[in-house]
Amino acid sequence: MPTQHQSTPASVACPVCAVATVIHDVVDFNKSCEEARQHFLPLSGRPIYYHRCTGCGFVLAPEFSSWSEQEFQQHIYNERYIEIDPDYVSRRPLANAEFVRQLFGDSRQLIRHLDYGGGAGVLSEALRGQGWDSTSYDPFPRSEQKIAALGKFNLITAFEVFEHVPDVTELMNNLGTLMENECMVIFSTLLSDGHIQPNTRLTWWYASPRNGHISLFSNRSLVLLAEQRGLQFGSFNGGTHCLFNRLPAWAQKLHG
Ligand SMILES: [Zn+2]
Repeated sequence: MPTQHQSTPASVACPVCAVATVIHDVVDFNKSCEEARQHFLPLSGRPIYYHRCTGCGFVLAPEFSSWSEQEFQQHIYNERYIEIDPDYVSRRPLANAEFVRQLFGDSRQLIRHLDYGGGAGVLSEALRGQGWDSTSYDPFPRSEQKIAALGKFNLITAFEVFEHVPDVTELMNNLGTLMENECMVIFSTLLSDGHIQPNTRLTWWYASPRNGHISLFSNRSLVLLAEQRGLQFGSFNGGTHCLFNRLPAWAQKLHG
């Protein structure tokens, strides 16, 4: 019985809307995003349960909320991570830097940018090389650096961050701490709408524990997270989105 699995509590409240979640499905820990390219890791034999909120559609793997940073480093973000996410080192951060430059390069003198979850800092380094005021910050692994000491920013990017966080509330609190009164947050995560539905198995390639994809957002769940904090939410497409309190003047060309 899944409900008796020691790391799968019978009752898990949705961290977005507090409605009770239901167990949606179980997958092997080694399910990876590379399965989309027909590359399959050997099964680990370790079951990972994903729960779905019946209110807002948010999906999470509750087991990871109790993992320590050491466990994440040992089992997910380890020396073999690159095999199941080969683009994370430089290809994707450089492409994202180019995306940001194309959007707002003309206004870079007005922008104080933070790349949240920036890993080794490749994106920020690329922007700084083009005259931007850009800082990289990664909440993982935890450091002595207090988030409030970073200051505030009017453009925050968070690429490939949301689906990795074990604590959505902490993520939103951190972003709130970092946002100036006029700030746009641009973030990427694939929406689960149309990919995760009741009474269907969890076959979506993006729902992959081995990649650390442990929080999966529906459009509704992101709308709610924004509303709860008095923010506006919008999507550029199914994978790239924005949050803002008040839109900086240089960002208003994106609106509408
Ligand atoms: Zn919910």
